[in-house]
Amino acid sequence: MLPLIRVGPAGNPVGYRGSTVNVFGKIRAMGLDAYEYQATYGLRLKNENAVRIHENSVKNDVLVSMHGPYYINLSSAKKETVEKSIERLFDCVVTGKLMGAYRIVFHPGFYGEQGKAGALDLCRRALGELIERLHGAGIREFTLAPETTGKRSQVGSLDEIIKLSEEFDEVMPTIDFAHIHARGGGCIRDARGYMEILDRVESRLGSHQLHCHFTGIEYTDAGERKHHSLSEGYGPPVEPLIEVLVDGGWEATIISETPMKDADAMKIKAIINEYLKRE
Ligand SMILES: [Zn+2]
Repeated sequence: MLPLIRVGPAGNPVGYRGSTVNVFGKIRAMGLDAYEYQATYGLRLKNENAVRIHENSVKNDVLVSMHGPYYINLSSAKKETVEKSIERLFDCVVTGKLMGAYRIVFHPGFYGEQGKAGALDLCRRALGELIERLHGAGIREFTLAPETTGKRSQVGSLDEIIKLSEEFDEVMPTIDFAHIHARGGGCIRDARGYMEILDRVESRLGSHQLHCHFTGIEYTDAGERKHHSLSEGYGPPVEPLIEVLVDGGWEATIISETPMKDADAMKIKAIINEYLKRE
């Protein structure tokens, strides 16, 4: 069986003027099969539209995920901020279920005054509280997907994201390769760089399924600075990722987050198809 690697844009294609509920036919026509709904500046979506997104995405066989708000901070020193963050993620899960989102992606928080261990512990406790509330409301079968983050001030090293995922059945990682690359000062150079990451995910979580983000990235000592399209020559390199995913038989979803997200998603798809033909 061919490995299933889905690819799609983070949000609507560049220049798309229509409504999000109707975007899935276009995504499919571009040869793409994934889509990450962007609630990054707040979730503002009527329930009926979430249901229509579900219907239209299924009809076009496009796998949907949701990116939650950037202002979520589960490790804030302010209890109020943590409480609001839990509430917003709760809403994302509820709407995400209507939408058929198979992952709720979010950036867990910032280290702040707590230090790394303290901040991770606050994230863990907040996630426990969130999951308990969801279960208490009779909401099950959802996957929270904290992301490997791009700034060194943010909770979200690969190890931290794996730790949070080990802790709860309802948590699985979002692997943002560009963020790992930026945090690590340009650490992903070739297939081996990707293999090290995937081996850690597989050995510690026993999972052969991957939700990931991809973009070219510019970085400083503090981490990520700017996203770039694939043709601009910034790392990490995309070809060895495809090689490692295909050869490893990974079931993966790659969300393109470049400034040319849909065109670059199509490029990634073409690289995958090319690689599969050679197999
Ligand atoms: Zn993100």
